[in-house]
Amino acid sequence: MNFHEYQAKQLFAEVGIPVPAGRVARTPSEAAEAAKAIGGHHWVVKAQIHAGGRGKAGGVKLVKTVDAVRDAAKAMLGTGMETYQSAGRALPVDSVLVTEATDIVKELYISMLVDRATKTITFICSAEGGVEIEKTAETNPDAIHQVNVDYVQGLQPYQCRQVGFAMGLSPKNVNQLTKIMLGMFKLFNDFDMSLIELNPLALVSTGDLMALDGKLNSDDNAAFRQPRLQAMRDIAQEDHTEVLASKYDLNYVTMDGDIGCMVNGAGLAMATMDVISLSGGSPANFLDVGGGATKERVSEAFKLILSSDKVKAIFVNIFGGIVRCDMIAEGIIEAVKEVDVKVPVVVRLEGTNVEKGKEILRNSGLAIIAADDINDGAQKAVAAAKEAA
Ligand code: GDP
Ligand code: MG
Repeated sequence: MNFHEYQAKQLFAEVGIPVPAGRVARTPSEAAEAAKAIGGHHWVVKAQIHAGGRGKAGGVKLVKTVDAVRDAAKAMLGTGMETYQSAGRALPVDSVLVTEATDIVKELYISMLVDRATKTITFICSAEGGVEIEKTAETNPDAIHQVNVDYVQGLQPYQCRQVGFAMGLSPKNVNQLTKIMLGMFKLFNDFDMSLIELNPLALVSTGDLMALDGKLNSDDNAAFRQPRLQAMRDIAQEDHTEVLASKYDLNYVTMDGDIGCMVNGAGLAMATMDVISLSGGSPANFLDVGGGATKERVSEAFKLILSSDKVKAIFVNIFGGIVRCDMIAEGIIEAVKEVDVKVPVVVRLEGTNVEKGKEILRNSGLAIIAADDINDGAQKAVAAAKEAA
């Protein structure tokens, strides 16, 4: 699950990570009031969406009057904002964060995540932070430092000092960094986070370190024991189809291609997407209906795929292990009866009760393109999508 910057900063403040004074606003006049309450003469108005890259998309405005705060908020609120990190979606700007503007001397970078290669919680730090961090990683990888945290010992202050000095920080800033990293470590564990990112972590003109941006990602598998995080959920930021899918326990991710996929098993789903790509096509989604899919879930899954007008063809690729092919066939028919299917459907069934499943589909009167195997199915789906487009 993702969070807004203002929510991240609230949690940062609670664990002693310094953040600029700020308030969230949902109308232009609320934004103006927020600026007055914060005081000072310089403010930053920031669109609250579940994606970074706002600076480059016009979602971060530095302004010098209360009227300019109101105008900046007015320009952002109610719009849809697309950034290079929003995966092609325009996210609704329902709120803005108004903060005091700080004078930045230098922008640093710090994040933490689970590194599967070393099987540790890992910090990634760089003295070259800000909006160009991706470039730094490519062109100057030596400027990026890693700290692996021992599972038993936890984060040790000496590790923080080591990385602070490697980043060229002053002794005072190294002490501040240590406190920030210990705070991040506490947040990560207490709230079952999978990612915490402060970019920029700024060295400001007072000589102190401060988090000017915050990104959090929590582990959905632990959602049941994080009621406070659940209360922070903003469904409006989430992909509509993915929200529907989660209601039916379907493992669904929207992609930007035009071939809808319905597959059982995450491994087969990924293989299907690969084979579609190898055949010159592009998948519209990842969908794992699960090993023990019921007729109802198959039917809901089918409707989900069809709810996107980008889909030009559907490829059903099912291996009947636990799930039976005849039941899958019935689910497809049920869905097709309810939803008007205008796109070609390629079906490849294999495994338990495959003959019965194929027979049900044959007798259904539906225009289904039968495929012999995964390659054949992918090629037929790609051809059908090209023809439809
Ligand atoms: P992002 O583009 O979505 O990552 O949004 P950020 O909050 O990181 O803002 C983008 C950039 O705006 C930062 O890298 C800073 O350069 C600038 N910025 C953000 N807050 C402030 C601030 O308080 N003062 C100044 N001078 N610049 C800021
Ligand atoms: Mg940022």
